[in-house]
Amino acid sequence: PTRPTAKPKWLRVKLPTGKKYTELRGLVDKYDLHTICTSGSCPNMGECWTEGTATFMILGNICTRSCGFCGVKTGRPETVDWDEPEKVARSIKLMEIKHAVITSVDRDDLKDMGSIIWAETVKAIRRMNPKTTLETLIPDFQGVTRHIDRIVEVAPEVVSHNMETVKRLTREVRIQAKYERSLEVLRYLKSEGINRTKSGIMLGLGETEAEVIQTMEDLRGVDLDIVTIGQYLQPSKKHLPVKEFITPEQFKKYETIGLEMGFRHVESGALVRSSYKAQKHLT
Ligand code: SF4
Ligand code: SF4
Repeated sequence: PTRPTAKPKWLRVKLPTGKKYTELRGLVDKYDLHTICTSGSCPNMGECWTEGTATFMILGNICTRSCGFCGVKTGRPETVDWDEPEKVARSIKLMEIKHAVITSVDRDDLKDMGSIIWAETVKAIRRMNPKTTLETLIPDFQGVTRHIDRIVEVAPEVVSHNMETVKRLTREVRIQAKYERSLEVLRYLKSEGINRTKSGIMLGLGETEAEVIQTMEDLRGVDLDIVTIGQYLQPSKKHLPVKEFITPEQFKKYETIGLEMGFRHVESGALVRSSYKAQKHLT
């Protein structure tokens, strides 16, 4: 098919508004707080922030990997900031976040792949915000269990790791990752007693319906609880092109199929991002 050019109407969103949004936006700008919500100009900011959910990125802004869909810069990463756990915890307190999603760039350059800062961040957030619940959206840590164990030990309420795409497209979409390895990480988390595991995929990269369903089956196969399915949008001309805009009806179909498969939650829709409605996933 020819490449779609104009965005369909269901992808056009209103700018976020609301009292809570304006208030938080003020804080974020004033204290230079780092949320993915603002740096990625996420369309769901109004909704998420009103509900008290925000996503924070740790371990710097430069990634050692270069996934074809991702807007994060690739290169030599910054030195580790050991005060970062405290800074993130303080931001969460200042913003009165009820449910925080923490994510990071991949730090294949570090011996511990960043897992120590990850664990320290969770601990600092818990100390300063005992009522705040947490989702950690983690990298694959190259599948090394002693790194993953550091996350398991601090027991976030939800642990997520995104597959991002179907098996066939994994090489093209996230070159340094492996489909099976990511599945194995999710299997391991569940087997080690993580209460809720979660994963996300993006559609519109050229995958077929059968491949999407297969991916969902693979995820159920590792006892995954929550899946998010959203539309891929190209961050810049240098990134992978959008091959297709998935219709709202098709997203609905995946939701129905997913619920029939036994997932606890399925978020499926054009504007769904992996942290969208994250608070709901605690149940
Ligand atoms: Fe932030 Fe995620 Fe909500 Fe977007 S979907 S506003 S990144 S919490
Ligand atoms: Fe982006 Fe994550 Fe890939 Fe790094 S590993 S390029 S942050 S998706």
